[in-house]
Amino acid sequence: MPENRFQPPKGMRDIYPEEMAARQAIFSKIREIMKLYSFREVEPTKIEHFETLAAKSGEEIEKEIYTFEDKAGRKLGLRFDLTVGMARMVASSAYPLPVRWFCIADMFRYEAPQKGRYRAFWQWDAEIFGSSSIFADAECIALGCDAMSAFDIEFEVRMSNRKLVEGIMRVVGIPKNKILDAFRCVDKLQKIGKENVLIEMEKRGIDPEKGEKVLDALKISGTYKDVEESVKSLNNSDDPLIPEALKEMCMLDKALKFFGVDKHCTFDLSIVRGLDYYTGIVFEGYATNRKVLGSALFGGGRYDGLVGRYGKDVPAVGLAGGVERLMEVLKAEGKLPSVTTAPDYFVAFVTPELMDVCASIASKLRKRGMAAEMELMDRSLSKQLKRASRIGAKKVIIVGPKELEKDKVKVRDMESGEEVLVEVNNL
Ligand code: AMP
Repeated sequence: MPENRFQPPKGMRDIYPEEMAARQAIFSKIREIMKLYSFREVEPTKIEHFETLAAKSGEEIEKEIYTFEDKAGRKLGLRFDLTVGMARMVASSAYPLPVRWFCIADMFRYEAPQKGRYRAFWQWDAEIFGSSSIFADAECIALGCDAMSAFDIEFEVRMSNRKLVEGIMRVVGIPKNKILDAFRCVDKLQKIGKENVLIEMEKRGIDPEKGEKVLDALKISGTYKDVEESVKSLNNSDDPLIPEALKEMCMLDKALKFFGVDKHCTFDLSIVRGLDYYTGIVFEGYATNRKVLGSALFGGGRYDGLVGRYGKDVPAVGLAGGVERLMEVLKAEGKLPSVTTAPDYFVAFVTPELMDVCASIASKLRKRGMAAEMELMDRSLSKQLKRASRIGAKKVIIVGPKELEKDKVKVRDMESGEEVLVEVNNL
């Protein structure tokens, strides 16, 4: 079907005032939480050199990057997340570590659009650069939990460790040069199902028998103790990455208790995340009621090698949540913040010759910090009052010739309907 030229392109959407007002309320709440965690707001550039974007994020996302050449022939791309840009910013500046930055902004991915998946979408994103402490990982998870709780969403966080999964892949016999491929396939498990993951693995030269063993091991989930027990009972669980990963998970488990968010968190080895830059703990947050939204509300993890790609070897961990997905859940649960954009005053006239007086009254009100709209359509007074009521104006100032002779205007309270005469100078 040909696309309608006058509609946004596939996967893009416009934001109308009601949604924009709700978004702004959501952003304010997120900013409050970021402040509680002592994160400072930044924004990396929307357009990056293609090499910056492709440095370590992986072939899956590379296919989704919007690329173009500028007039001088530079190959550029639109950002697909905020992590890459922030990592590059940290590498090219000298802020004392740890750097704790957040950003709320839009990004672009050429994916197949579907519910909760757009080609242009917004994320709230927080990153901690410079700390290898498991408390930094736990703080990111706690931030995600606190954000969901602030919006009164019932949710759960599922966590894993890429090191553990890599160790399992090595034990199963996946060759070193196929590990990243295996991760990319496993990440699609939820989306395309086991059979298709195995087909994809075979296409990438991974023995499906070994692939199946990996998928079986990734069914392990539960408390830290459950995971430890199940992993230790796997055959040949002697790869050095396995005890190292388990130790991190054990420490994470404890740290989450200190932050008071452990009740929301479960280990689930099938969570590996799609981007190649992750190196350790990874996690995803979901609405408990998956019928409202099956895909993740937020996700993140440790990516210790990424900043190094841009010139400074700095460990890092972070998380990002989708604004549109958050709004979908809030809408479905009737929890979308309702925000009023109504002005304090509507300035109406009895005859259009008085528009100049209306303009100076509106200006005076605005200087006093009151929101005011004046009539611009040359309508009858009754239609102007209807407009005032529709936009929710609290009061209407009616500028009429008779009252103006005495330097006065009528002020009508829209709720009570009461009208009083007020001197223009006293407005
Ligand atoms: P990611 O950058 O892929 O780790 O995604 C972080 C979060 O951004 C996800 O948990 C989603 O909430 C959101 N997100 C990712 N891709 C999309 C998309 N195509 N459309 C809307 N939200 C998205």
